Amino acid sequence: MSPIDEEQLQGLQGVRDFLRIRTSYDVLPLSFRLIVLDNDLLIRKSLNILIQNNIVSAPLWDSHNGRFAGLLTSTDFINVIQYYNQFPEQIDNVEKFRLSSLRDIEKAINVQTLETVSVHPGRPLYEACSRMLRSRARRIPLVDVDDETGRETVVSVITQYRILKFIAVNTEQHTSLMKKTIREINLGTYTDLATCKMTDSVLDVINSMVVRNISAVPVIDKNNVVLNVFEAVDVIPCIKGGAYEELKSTVGEALAQRPEDFPGIYTCQEDDRLDSIFQTVRQSRVHRLVVIDDDWHLKGILSLSDILKYVLFHGEEGEYFPQT
Ligand code: ADP
Repeated sequence: MSPIDEEQLQGLQGVRDFLRIRTSYDVLPLSFRLIVLDNDLLIRKSLNILIQNNIVSAPLWDSHNGRFAGLLTSTDFINVIQYYNQFPEQIDNVEKFRLSSLRDIEKAINVQTLETVSVHPGRPLYEACSRMLRSRARRIPLVDVDDETGRETVVSVITQYRILKFIAVNTEQHTSLMKKTIREINLGTYTDLATCKMTDSVLDVINSMVVRNISAVPVIDKNNVVLNVFEAVDVIPCIKGGAYEELKSTVGEALAQRPEDFPGIYTCQEDDRLDSIFQTVRQSRVHRLVVIDDDWHLKGILSLSDILKYVLFHGEEGEYFPQT
């Protein structure tokens, strides 16, 4: 094994050890607010609550059984849009749908139902990460059980974004050892990329996100030059006020509705080393990196789950999806 390989493995091991001694509690800020939505709420109203509170997801609560009932995310609204399109005759009923109907909507449009995974906040962070990656969720609720009543409480939700940030900020001594380039370790997706044009309809892009279970599609011009990235959360302003059936906007129009504090897109190149990717994650609000060449041509996409999977499981093939 070359010295650079050895160092890389040493860095990976350092991060894994760190994730095993830290808990999900450690990732949470000292003070935060959590908005939990009752599962009986109308889907239409839940959308307004997300928009008013400037959040893009919320845990759901089953008040009949006093139990955590899953997580509402922009994917659920995308599914409702798909449902509208497949069953236009149901339009009047959709207005009356409650959050508890989301699973039925998934079944009706034939998308894979996400498991309602959660993790105890006091468990090692490694467990939260591996559960999240295993279920392909991008965020995981932390659910505690009250010793006296035996009732569940949702403490918070942690995201892949937050965990990667936590790693980047706290383990620089380990991540700085990762000097292999993303090309060398084959990190990211480079073939069969889902892309769109500014003039494409939002509906078409939504369709490809549902079919491929991805949450971002690079926007390119006719020469394959990257102009922007359309993200699942960009759908929310488009359906504000419940206008699902009027969702005719183009990608360009939808992107124009982004909030002023939108962090922008991040790019990298195939010859960038993993330590420099971690530096970008440490310094910026990165939700994915678009891999480009010197002239901004699209080469690939590097998602947070690609990075986390590598960091957790590389070299431990047998443990790729460890049982926790
Ligand atoms: P995201 O939430 O950014 O879609 P995921 O972690 O869910 O990212 O991505 C799952 C897999 O799909 C990753 O391996 C990622 O590289 C790949 N991927 C993400 N976006 C695209 C895309 N537009 N086209 C092809 N593959 C993609």
